[in-house]
Amino acid sequence: MAGNYHSTRGMDDVVDAKAAILEGLAKDGGLFVSDEVLEERLDLDALGLEASSTVDYLTHARQVLSLLIPAYTPEEIYRAVAAAYGESFSDPAITPLTPFGDDWRLELFHGPTCAFKDVALQMLPRLVEIALATSAAAREGERVLILTATSGDTGKAALAGFADVDRTGIVVFYPEGLVSDVQRLQMVTQPGKNVGVTAIAGTFDDSQTAVKRVFADRALEARLAARGIVLSSANSINVGRLVPQVVYYVDAWCQLVRAGKIERTEAVDFFVPTGNFGDILAGYLAKRLGLPVGRLCICSNANDVLVDFLATGVYDRRREFKKSISPSMDILVSSNLERLLYFESDGDCELVARLMADLAEKGCYTVPERVMARIRETFTAGRADDDATRAAIKRAWEEDGILIDPHTGVGASVLAASEPEGRARVLLSTASPFKFPADVLRALGAPEERSGFAAMDALARLTGQEPPAQLAALIDAPVRFDGTIAPDDAVSFVEAEAERLLS
Ligand SMILES: *Cc1c(COP(=O)(O)O)cnc(C)c1O
Repeated sequence: MAGNYHSTRGMDDVVDAKAAILEGLAKDGGLFVSDEVLEERLDLDALGLEASSTVDYLTHARQVLSLLIPAYTPEEIYRAVAAAYGESFSDPAITPLTPFGDDWRLELFHGPTCAFKDVALQMLPRLVEIALATSAAAREGERVLILTATSGDTGKAALAGFADVDRTGIVVFYPEGLVSDVQRLQMVTQPGKNVGVTAIAGTFDDSQTAVKRVFADRALEARLAARGIVLSSANSINVGRLVPQVVYYVDAWCQLVRAGKIERTEAVDFFVPTGNFGDILAGYLAKRLGLPVGRLCICSNANDVLVDFLATGVYDRRREFKKSISPSMDILVSSNLERLLYFESDGDCELVARLMADLAEKGCYTVPERVMARIRETFTAGRADDDATRAAIKRAWEEDGILIDPHTGVGASVLAASEPEGRARVLLSTASPFKFPADVLRALGAPEERSGFAAMDALARLTGQEPPAQLAALIDAPVRFDGTIAPDDAVSFVEAEAERLLS
């Protein structure tokens, strides 16, 4: 069964990595996991440490992917890695590590949409494309329609990744009036003949509910299947989004070794701004594969359900949802925690299924103490509300001359409040500050600007830094999608889009 994937909730449905990536979610509602990751198989001596940073990143990506998704041949992985991490990243190191006071900052925002989700969403479409062409799980001529609800960052990163990819189409729903100006323009100006975007009259939860309703519509599924179209998702439950994120943990450790900052035997602590638990879970997988990782610190905003969970062992989503200045972390149900529960219970599918049923029925679950003890061996947690986040943004700018976005600001605040344990500490920096210029300006104490572009200009003037070209260029980009639909019209909208994008 080498390299095979099954659900966190049972062993019935065993598939290879290609099928897991095409299917997205297991049939019983669980997430796909592979027990292979429980073995330390990363060969630290074989990691590239000598070549240029780009060559090293590609080498690490190939090593990690071939360990985690072995259904892909070395040649297929080579092709996917080369296509994902080329011209579209503005820094030759892909994810450069730079000093941050006495600590380090891993810059994950140099991709085409200026958020860390690019690292995975530049790769996922290549993996889908290859699986469609080569997997036994894909029928002859099958095409995939990707559906994504977004609170801001995922939508654009998925659009940029899937635009004009053969045999795929993508439809994105965003909540009308609830994403930043810059985020909205990024989506509605997206070029490509296989892309569609619409606002939904409602909140992010309404968009997500609408997407779930489309997925659950068996009549629609049959009508699409008759035309050779299957639906899939680009959110972080997909194995194909998780695996590429393991790479930058390995690469960050290698950058420290290469720069002579740590020995090959030394472990590193990572501080991770967290929402759906995908990014930090990738760090855990890197550790289980054998990377010297000390602690993984969950950094939460005011939606601090994970901080309470780590302290008490009770995951309780029955609380007020708080809108923060780090919107991509405004999440009460961190889906990927399910995978951690599976691994730290030594693969107890029954336990995981029971906990997830409790979550669905009661809105909370309690994890056995022996599992919590294991989780606490690796994970710590801290929170930062909006005021603490603004203070961290201001401090980073005034003391170190480093401009950070509000998501990174949450991590910086938690990092500053944590007692060092003698290991090198790396803060994951998840977005460009120019994606959230109005909130960053306010944190720096500058007068507020209402429009996104005025704020971008003001931030550039105040700091002397240039906005990323792809954000500045939005001001001239033609708007292609200006529609809004009611949540109830999602099914008919998707069916029409399937016709428009895939026929
Ligand atoms: C998605 C996102 C996060 C949270 O990552 P998860 O994998 O959901 O925990 C943090 N920062 C930014 C900028 C994001 O877009």
